[in-house]
Amino acid sequence: MALKLGLVGIGKIARDQHIPALTADPRFELVACASRNARVDGVANFADVETMLAEVKDLDAISICTPPQAHFEAALAALRAGKHVMLEKPPAATTRHIALLQAEAQRQGRTLFQTWHSRLAAGVDAAREWLSSRTLTGGTITWKEDVHHWHPGQQWIFEPGGLGVFDPGINALSVLTEVLPGEAVVHEATLDFPENQQAPIAAQLALRTEAGVMVNAEFDFRQKGEQTWDIELVTTTGRLKLTHGGGALQIDGQPLAADAALAGEYPRLYARFAELCMAGESEVDWRPFQLVADAFLVGRRRIVAAHQV
Ligand code: NAP
Repeated sequence: MALKLGLVGIGKIARDQHIPALTADPRFELVACASRNARVDGVANFADVETMLAEVKDLDAISICTPPQAHFEAALAALRAGKHVMLEKPPAATTRHIALLQAEAQRQGRTLFQTWHSRLAAGVDAAREWLSSRTLTGGTITWKEDVHHWHPGQQWIFEPGGLGVFDPGINALSVLTEVLPGEAVVHEATLDFPENQQAPIAAQLALRTEAGVMVNAEFDFRQKGEQTWDIELVTTTGRLKLTHGGGALQIDGQPLAADAALAGEYPRLYARFAELCMAGESEVDWRPFQLVADAFLVGRRRIVAAHQV
């Protein structure tokens, strides 16, 4: 029997990835959507999640792809109504929100799947495997994209809780925390805030591993021309480079062929969600979000030129 699913927050990622992945997966049946303005053909549509939960009695699960500022209320309402919940990244607006959602899922005996789609990019598993037996000596993350191209009109990114350039940057941190054999913390950070916005448009982080190795990250939303989503990690016995947001892997400059049978990030996310629901388990790892929160806590603040969304 397919899990009956309600999708919350119908915008770019819902239409580009969630709906196609759900439509192709026989383990799910998309039966309803909740969005303040948008509508999806062929399913029941509601303006808010509370009405959807009240009206569609046989929903098994909901998947939330609103901006992070709207995650907590929707997820809490769904868990309290006894539904399994899948959360887009970034997981919420505050770190306590995630802790409370995790506790509520446990209380209700329901699944909370707090996703990091970039961890399911094609090169990431092989990168983790390669690094697991090596000694890191340094690394750089370069995550530079054009916000006007990838997030047209998305003012929420620059509002409080929208995370600014950390909205994509957190993807790099999700991959780093997945592939590093140990833990890393924020050593120093500098955040560049446009004079007319509430969230940074660029950031530089110095991350320090437990062994004292530095990984320097540069995030920038003002990139024109070539777009870069790269992680380069140097070890005593070779150099690894993940490009295309984790989608491609090079070892010592040589591309490694990806597993052709591997499904895309979103089909893999929904496959994992189905497994977790069946097993009655949750998957929550908020370390990437803690690194972002810590960058806000210890980061130096620079005011830069105004930015129009
Ligand atoms: P989006 O195009 O702005 O869509 C989000 C939708 O959520 C909006 O269209 C809006 O639809 C609804 N919404 C509910 N509460 C909202 C609020 N307070 N402010 C703004 N919209 C609200 O954004 P998106 O690109 O799909 O991103 C949504 C989430 O997916 C983000 O957390 C993002 O990090 C993540 N994500 C995005 C991408 C990408 O490539 N865009 C990739 C991976 C993950 P209604 O007006 O109908 O309510």
